[in-house]
Amino acid sequence: MIRVLVSGAAGRMGSAVVTAVLGAEDLSLVAAVDPAHEGQPLAEGVDFTISGDLAGAIEATSPDVMVDFTHPSAVAGNIATALDRGVHCVVGTTGIDPRMLASLAETAPEGTCLFVAPNFALGAVLMMRFAAEAARYLPHVEIIELHHDKKADAPSGTALRTAALIAETRESVPHAPGRETEVADGARGALVENVTIHSVRLPGLVAHQEVLFGGQGQTLAIRHDSIDRTSFMPGVLLGIRGVIGRNGLVVGLEQLMDG
Ligand code: NAP
Repeated sequence: MIRVLVSGAAGRMGSAVVTAVLGAEDLSLVAAVDPAHEGQPLAEGVDFTISGDLAGAIEATSPDVMVDFTHPSAVAGNIATALDRGVHCVVGTTGIDPRMLASLAETAPEGTCLFVAPNFALGAVLMMRFAAEAARYLPHVEIIELHHDKKADAPSGTALRTAALIAETRESVPHAPGRETEVADGARGALVENVTIHSVRLPGLVAHQEVLFGGQGQTLAIRHDSIDRTSFMPGVLLGIRGVIGRNGLVVGLEQLMDG
C-alpha cells in the first residue's frame, strides 16, 4: 500500500483527490491537510478530520507521498516541508516559478522525487504533444486558455508549458502582429516564449485550452476540455504510483505515461 497525504484536501481538486485515493485498492489515505478547514470532518464515512499542520501530520502518519493542490502562495512551503522529511511530492498547484522548483528539488534527500504536472488530464498532455508537433509546420500560433473564475494564476500552467513546448519545436518565430497598435491594453494577450496567450476567466468553466494555428489559406485548432475534475484523477493516481522509486525533479505527466 502507498500511504498518501492530501494537501489542500478541502479544495475543489483536493477533495476529488481524496475520493480517488479512497477508491484505489493500492493506496491508503493517511492524512488530509488544509489549515483553514482544520478539525472539520474529511467526508461522510471517513473516520478522520482535516489537519491544519502539515509537518505535524507527516510526523504522525508517515506518508510515502504528499499530493498538493493548494495555492501558488502555499505550495513552495509545503513542498519544502515534505521533501525535508523524505516524503515524495506529487504537485498539481500551478503558478510556481520553475527556478523555485529546481532549487527545492536540489534540497531533497536522495531517493525522494518531486513530480510536478501543470495538467494531469491525459487528453491535455496529448493536446500539448500534438501542438508541439503542429508548430514544426505551422509556426503562426496563439493559445486561448479558459478557466473558472476562482483560478488564482494567469496564464495557466498548461498554457505556459504549451508555449515552452512550441518554442522547442518551432523552427521559425513569426512576428506577433498588432501589439504596437493595440487600442486597449492587453487586447493582443501576453507574450510567453514568443507565443501569444489569451486567458479567459468565467464562472461555469472548468479547464479548457485551444491552440490555434494559422497558415496559408488554412487554420488548425487543437482543443482540450476538462468538463469535470475527475478528468485529472487517472493522471494524479499515475503520479502517486510513479514517484515511488524515482528521484529528483520530474516535470510533466508525459514523463510517466510511456512507462
Ligand atoms: P481551491 O478549491 O481553492 O483549493 C485549494 C485548497 O487549498 C483550499 O481549500 C485552500 O484553503 C487550501 N490551502 C490554502 N493554503 C493551504 C496550505 N498552506 N496548506 C494546505 N491547504 C491550503 O483550488 P483548486 O481549484 O482545487 O486548485 C488548486 C490548485 O490546483 C491551483 O493552483 C490550480 O491552478 C491547480 N490545478 C491544477 C490542475 C492540474 O492538472 N495540474 C488541475 C486543476 C487545478 P482556503 O479555504 O483557505 O482557500
